[in-house]
Amino acid sequence: MQIAKEKIISAFSLLYHILAYKIARPFLKLENGTLIISVDVDVGNRVLGEINNGKNDRNVHTYLSEYAVGMIEELSVPLLIDLFENLEIPVTFALRGQLLNVESSVVRRLVKSPVEFDIGAHGYSHKEFARLSPLEAEMELKMIAGGMKKFGTTPKSFVFPKNSVDHLDLLEKYGYFCFRGRGGFIRDGAYVAKVGKLYDVHPSLFINKSLDVRLLKKILDISIEKKLLLHIWFHPKDLGYDRKTMKDSTQKVFSPFFEYAKKKEENGLLTFETMLSAVEKKRSIS
Ligand SMILES: [Zn+2]
Repeated sequence: MQIAKEKIISAFSLLYHILAYKIARPFLKLENGTLIISVDVDVGNRVLGEINNGKNDRNVHTYLSEYAVGMIEELSVPLLIDLFENLEIPVTFALRGQLLNVESSVVRRLVKSPVEFDIGAHGYSHKEFARLSPLEAEMELKMIAGGMKKFGTTPKSFVFPKNSVDHLDLLEKYGYFCFRGRGGFIRDGAYVAKVGKLYDVHPSLFINKSLDVRLLKKILDISIEKKLLLHIWFHPKDLGYDRKTMKDSTQKVFSPFFEYAKKKEENGLLTFETMLSAVEKKRSIS
């Protein structure tokens, strides 16, 4: 049931994405196709499930417990770091704030990586921001800032839990430069647009393990040919819920696609940006 649903979602997302090229707004005169990748880490470690004791489960997933998502992501986040480090592809990792207070190996790896990853934030407890009062939202941002500080970093990119965009004034106050807007099925397609003092680094496409890699490569080819921005996003759990599925989907979808993109970059046809570096580029020329 879940797999069928995922397939439907990605098929719709793909279909509309291709159509969206007609209405896409290029964010600057691109010399190449540009690929932004953002990864939403919802939990990161099962310990969060233990600490929150089931009380935060529904903020994280419709039917999986926070503990289960944490367990899945303990396996898949390191796999993704390996993948992007091996290929030397900088991506945005939007981390759940509470993870910064309990687990450090993943965060330390990201901070110390030779690849310039953009370490962004994905809420503190993965609550929908539109349902939070300004006070509650500020509390989340404050706790994220405290956790990040321990690693000597300040997040500049924000990915809203469940893509529930709100409290942008507070994001400005806490020094963020950009956020990922909510991608729609109808007006999909990437662009970078100024909203107040922030930038919306809009997504093009959600991908998961059910995706046909040939279609994905074709979409990348189109964005290279038309010199457009492509912003894909997913969660570590979209690789699969167990070790075997993760391995299969990495071999069938994720590795072949990102290797293909890397080759395009090596041939001078594609540029990788993180959410943050795309915005910095835009700020430097506008
Ligand atoms: Zn999330």
